[in-house]
Amino acid sequence: MKKPCETRLFINGEYQNSADGRTIPLINPATEETWCEVAAANESDIERAVNGAQKAFENGWRDMAPGKRAEILFNIARLIRQHQEELAELEMLNIGKPISDARDEAALCARIFEYYAGAVGKFFGETIPVARGGFDFTIRQPMGVVAAIVPWNFPFPIASWKTAPALAAGNCVVLKPASLSPLTALRLAGLAHEAGLPAGVLQVLSGSGGKIGDLLVTHPLVKKISFTGSTSIGARIMELASKDIKRVSLELGGKSPNIIFADADLDLAASSSPMSVFANCGQDCCARSRIFVERKIYDAFVQRFVEATRALAIGDPSRAETQVGPMVSSSQRESVESFIESARVAKRDIVCGGDRPNGKGFYLRPAVVLGCETSDLIWREEVFGPAVCIRPFDDEEEMLREVNASPYGLSGSLWTNDLKRALRVAKRVESGVLSVNSHSSVHVEAPFGGFKQSGLGRDLGMAALEGFTELKNVYIAL
Ligand code: NAP
Repeated sequence: MKKPCETRLFINGEYQNSADGRTIPLINPATEETWCEVAAANESDIERAVNGAQKAFENGWRDMAPGKRAEILFNIARLIRQHQEELAELEMLNIGKPISDARDEAALCARIFEYYAGAVGKFFGETIPVARGGFDFTIRQPMGVVAAIVPWNFPFPIASWKTAPALAAGNCVVLKPASLSPLTALRLAGLAHEAGLPAGVLQVLSGSGGKIGDLLVTHPLVKKISFTGSTSIGARIMELASKDIKRVSLELGGKSPNIIFADADLDLAASSSPMSVFANCGQDCCARSRIFVERKIYDAFVQRFVEATRALAIGDPSRAETQVGPMVSSSQRESVESFIESARVAKRDIVCGGDRPNGKGFYLRPAVVLGCETSDLIWREEVFGPAVCIRPFDDEEEMLREVNASPYGLSGSLWTNDLKRALRVAKRVESGVLSVNSHSSVHVEAPFGGFKQSGLGRDLGMAALEGFTELKNVYIAL
C-alpha cells in the first residue's frame, strides 16, 4: 500500500496517530483500490484537540496583533499556491475529482485565505450616538474554539472557507473533514503551521462523524459549530447545540432550479447547463437538477442540452480534458442509481445516461430524465449525483409555485434577456443564491448559504466574519 502523504491527525502543531491507533481505509474512486489508511480520531483525541485549541486561544491567538494574524494568513495562501499541484493531486486521488477542477479549487483556496487576510483590518465595530450621551461603541469579538465539520464533495474549498474567516476573526479551529476526504485538510494544517500559525490554533481530526460528531458538537469548550453537509445531520447538530445555545451555521442540501425563458440566449443556456448539474459528477449542493423550460423552446432546449451532455468528457480524472470523473464511492453511485431506477419504473423517458461504462471506477453516465411528475422522487429529492429532470412550463406564476414547492432553497439560475422579468423572478425564487444568465454560485467576496432546509447563516464574504464573532456593545458614561 502506498503512503502518499500525511495521514495522521494534526493536534497541537504535530502530526500524530490517533490515541488508539485506529485508521480508516481510503479507496481511489477511479480504480476502486484501497490506497492509504488515515487516522481515525477517538474521544481522547477530541479532548486533546479541543483543550489544546482553547489553550492556544487564551495564550496568544486571541490577543495577537491583527497585522500579525493577517501576515500568517497571507503566508498560508502563498504556501497553498506553491503546493497547488500536490494539493490538486491529493484531491483527485482521494475523491476522483477531475484534475483541472482540483487545480482550480486549490487556487480558489489560496484566494480565500488572501481575502480573509486582507479583511482582518477591514472588519470592525461602530460608534453609536446613544440618547443618554456618553460614548457607546461595538466590538466584534472572537468566540473561542469553533468546530468546522465539512463534507466530501468540495473538501478543500469548504474547509478553507470555514477555517480562513474563523482564524481571521481570532478564533481557534477544530476541523473535521469527511471520512471519505480527509487528505487536503490534513495537508492544510501542516502548511498553515509552516506559515507561522501557532500550535493548537488549527487542529484537524479525521475520523467518523457518526462516532465522534456528538462529542465534538456538545463539548463545553466548543462555542460554535460551522457545518456543511446533509440536512439530516444538520438538524441533529442544531438539536444538540440547542441544549446550551451554542452558535451554529448550517450549509445543507439543495434541489436547485434552472429556469429557462423563451427569450433567453438558447445556445448559451443549453450549452452551459449540463455542467451546472453534472460538474463534480453531480455531487454538488448547488446542482441545478430541476430544469424548467418555457414550452415554446422546450424541444429545442432539450435537443441542445442532450447533445451537450453526450459530448461531455467523462473518465480518468487525471486527464486534463476530463470534465466528469467517477462518483466518490460505490454506495453513492448505488444511491443515485436507485433514483434513476425509480424513474425507469415510473416509465419516465431517460433519454441518455444512467448506466455504468465498462471497467473499474465508480463511474455513472449523466442521466437526462423527461416526463417527470412533480410528485416523482427524482424530481423532489436531492439526488446528489449525475441525474437531471427537465419539465416544460407555460405560466410564470405556476412555474414559481413549483420552484418554491421544494423544502430546499440553496441556489439556482434563471435565463432571460428581459431585465424586468429577471428582477421580478429573482426576487420571488426562495433561495439564498441565484444567478441570472450564469451558473456561478460561489464568489469568495459574496455571502453563500441557503433559505429553508438548505441552511442557516452564511459562509464567504464579510458575512462569514460576522458569523465567527460575537457582537459586544460597550457604553462609557462620561
Ligand atoms: P453528511 O453525511 O451530512 O456529512 C457531512 C460531515 O458531517 C462529514 O464530515 C461527516 O463525517 C460529518 N458527520 C456525520 N455524522 C455526524 C454527526 N452525527 N455529528 C457531527 N458530524 C457528523 O454529508 P455528506 O454526505 O458528506 O455531504 C453531502 C451533503 O452535503 C449533501 O446533502 C449536500 O447537499 C450537502 N452540501 C451542502 C453544501 C452547502 O454549502 N449547502 C455544500 C456541500 C455539500 P463522516 O464523513 O465521517 O460521516
